[in-house]
Amino acid sequence: MADHFHLLVVGGGVIGLSVAWRAAGRGLKVAVADPAPASGASHAAAGMLAPVSEVTYTEEPLLRLGLASLERWPAFAAELADASGHDLDHRADGTLDVAFGSDDLAALDDLAAFVAKLGLSAERLTGRECRRLEPMLAPAVRGGMLAGGDAWVDPRKVTSALLTALERAGGTLVRARVAGLLTAAGAVTGVRLATGESVGAERVVLAAGAWSGSLPGMPPEALPPVRPVKGQIMRLRSPAPILRRCVRGVVHGSNVYLVPRGDGEVVLGATQEEMGFDTRVTAGGLWELLRDARELVPGVTELEVAEVVAGLRPGTPDNLPLVGPTIVPGLHMATGHHRGGVLLAPLTADLCSGESDPELSSICSPLRFQEHPPQELS
Ligand code: FAD
Repeated sequence: MADHFHLLVVGGGVIGLSVAWRAAGRGLKVAVADPAPASGASHAAAGMLAPVSEVTYTEEPLLRLGLASLERWPAFAAELADASGHDLDHRADGTLDVAFGSDDLAALDDLAAFVAKLGLSAERLTGRECRRLEPMLAPAVRGGMLAGGDAWVDPRKVTSALLTALERAGGTLVRARVAGLLTAAGAVTGVRLATGESVGAERVVLAAGAWSGSLPGMPPEALPPVRPVKGQIMRLRSPAPILRRCVRGVVHGSNVYLVPRGDGEVVLGATQEEMGFDTRVTAGGLWELLRDARELVPGVTELEVAEVVAGLRPGTPDNLPLVGPTIVPGLHMATGHHRGGVLLAPLTADLCSGESDPELSSICSPLRFQEHPPQELS
């Protein structure tokens, strides 16, 4: 392919497409290379935009990124819906975290106090108040916390809208696998495709999700420590909506959540497994999901199974993404978003297209895993 781009993005999941669309909107000549766009983790994701209910005490930097991105979601969704003509099923009705036993209730009290200390909106509720909000909840639910600012979106609608919007903004989609990087004088100057063709670019952004850590031809000093974290998830079909908002809880020690879709579907997820690049859906994985979800909302077992799927989250050692320039001139990253890539897409796109926010950029800088400071960044 005899072409030269300002920006070439490797990987067309929610992250790569968001980065490319934003950059194209700012007047750059942009391409995305992916043999199967929107087929990775973004295809499996539930789409919760839930930094508050997902918060843990040790992950305050991640919470800061999540809140900054959540704030951008309404404008991002409106702009994307307008640019593509697609509906994204973006809803902001909050997440209800529920608890059963006294240990769970104590943990929820701690979480509510922590969230309040951070100045965030969250309301502690009794079991009865929870059931008033969500009548299908199990009678055994003894209390809950409503994170009213949390939202959700349908990630498949988002990636489909991004593909349309990118094309309308003049972006190019190259349906081919990237087999290596082109370099000259120590700088990345483009990519080599599996078809044998080369594509030149002033800047290459690695956004290949869980595959980012194993892209062939990466300079060893820039190879990101990204690993696949398997998640099995299930879509159930209901003749009428059974929930008004996202519901989550800890059952048998694992997190389980249910996310309602606009068409009545309910997404039920998700397992977290360290299984390498294995995307098999297993009987045990589905059994655990159903067993735990039934404790929260007993009626789920009556619903029709619409789909079961497994995706690979791009995990990093500190659970934070890698966004920004690397030690190698011409090579940037937008990867490692682990459990929160849908949530973090608007922020990632802004940071990759020149928005200056030193605090947020330093939290997710790829340089934290690279031994030497950069000599020269493009
Ligand atoms: P992906 O969507 O995996 O895209 C990577 C792309 O790179 C793929 O299209 C692939 O084809 C391409 N690629 C790979 N290798 C190459 C190559 N050599 N050349 C070219 N292209 C290549 N996040 C949330 O915010 N909220 C949620 O509720 C949520 N739920 C989830 C539930 C499950 C079950 C899973 C698995 C994930 C969930 N996530 C959620 C996490 C979220 O899905 C990911 O963080 C996000 O999708 C990562 O996006 P990505 O674009 O980096 O990767």
